Amino acid sequence: MSDAKARFLPGATIGVMGGGQLGRMFAVAARRMGYKVRIFTPDADSPGGQLSDFQTTADFADEQAVREFARSVDVLTFEFENIPFASAQWAAEHAVSRPAGTILHTTQNRRREKTYLAHADLPLPRFAVVRDETECAAAIEKLGRPCVVKSADFGYDGKGQRKVLPGDAVAEVWRLFEGSEAVVEEWVDFVCELSVIVARGIDGAISTFPATRNTHSNHILDISSVPFGDEKVEHEARQLAMGVADAIDLRGLLAVEMFYTNDGRLLINELAPRTHNSGHWTLDACATSQFEQQVRAVCGLPLGSTALLSPCAMANLLGEVWAAGEPDWHAAIGGDIKLHLYGKTHARIGRKMGHLTALAATAFEAIGKAEKARAVLARL
Ligand code: AMP
Repeated sequence: MSDAKARFLPGATIGVMGGGQLGRMFAVAARRMGYKVRIFTPDADSPGGQLSDFQTTADFADEQAVREFARSVDVLTFEFENIPFASAQWAAEHAVSRPAGTILHTTQNRRREKTYLAHADLPLPRFAVVRDETECAAAIEKLGRPCVVKSADFGYDGKGQRKVLPGDAVAEVWRLFEGSEAVVEEWVDFVCELSVIVARGIDGAISTFPATRNTHSNHILDISSVPFGDEKVEHEARQLAMGVADAIDLRGLLAVEMFYTNDGRLLINELAPRTHNSGHWTLDACATSQFEQQVRAVCGLPLGSTALLSPCAMANLLGEVWAAGEPDWHAAIGGDIKLHLYGKTHARIGRKMGHLTALAATAFEAIGKAEKARAVLARL
C-alpha cells in the first residue's frame, strides 16, 4: 500500500519484520508512546517478541502468514534487512511500509547498494563486481593489493569477506565465493570508522544523530563513542548521511557506516535501512533514542531532538562475557554504567547478548569505563 502522507497515531499497531534486539528496543519505545507492536519472526522465543504485544511466528517465505501479519497491522517497518524481497512485497500490498521495500532490496545486496551509491555520486571505496575467477583476478589487478573480496549477498558483520594480500593465489580466494557474485573493493587506510543515523519523515523533514566513532573486533562492532571529537568531519558526515537519505527518498531511519581516510575523505562503507548497533548509546545519552526516532519517522510524527546529553561509550556484550560463568553483575554496573540485555538464553561465542553504556565527562573517559565494566563482568 502506498499512502505516502498517512499518519499513524498512538493506539495504532506497528508491525516489525524481524525479532532481534533491534525489534525489542523498538517495541519498548513504541509501547511507551502508546502504540501496539506486532513482531514477525521465525524464532518462537524472540528478543523482540518477548517485549511486544503480539508475535507472528512463521517463516519469511510463508506467504499466507506474511499477508495475514500485514493485514493485522497499520504500518510496517523492519529491524533486519535480509528478509526476502518477495516477503516485503507481499506485506506492502496490505500495509504502508516505511522504509519502502525497494530500499531493503537495494541495501541487502552489496552490488546493488554500491552501484546505487556510485550512480548517486556519493563517495565510496573503488570497487568492481565479479562473477568468476577471471573477473576476480582482473579486479584484484586493477584495485591493487591489499584489497578485499566480499560476497554480494547477505554480508553483514564481516561474514563472507576475504582480504587479499600480496602473495595470495586468486584461485584460492575465489574458491570461497565460487558460484556466487562478489564485490572486490580497494583496501581503505582509515583514521577511524564512524556512522551517522539519519531519520527522514513523511514530509521530507530530516534529522541526523551525532556522529559515532566505532571500533570493531573480529569484524563485529566492539565500542561506539560520542562525541566524535572533530566537528568539521562530523559536520561533513552528517551532510553525507542526509544526502543518502534524500537520494533514496527515505521514509524511516537509516544508518550510514563510513571510513574517515588517512587522506581526509569520508567514504561510505555500508547502509542499513533500520536502527543500528552503533546507535544504542542514544537510549541513555540522547534527547531522543534511535528507536523512538524510528517510531516517529515511521508513524509520521514530528522527529525528535537529537541533542547529545552526555559524552558516552557503548560496549557490546558478546557471548564471550559468559565464558567464565555468570557475569559479575554486582561488581560491574554501579554508578553511570547502564545495562541492556536482549533476553537471549544461549550465550554463544560472537552472539550479541547485550550492551553497556558508560556516561562520563569525555568520550575517552567513557570508553575506559565501558571497557573496564565489561572486563569486570567477564571476570577477566
Ligand atoms: P563490512 O562488513 O563491509 O562492514 O566490513 C566489516 C569491517 O571490515 C569494517 O567495519 C572494516 O573494519 C573492515 N573493512 C571492510 N571493508 C574494508 C576496506 N575496503 N578497507 C579496510 N577495511 C575494511
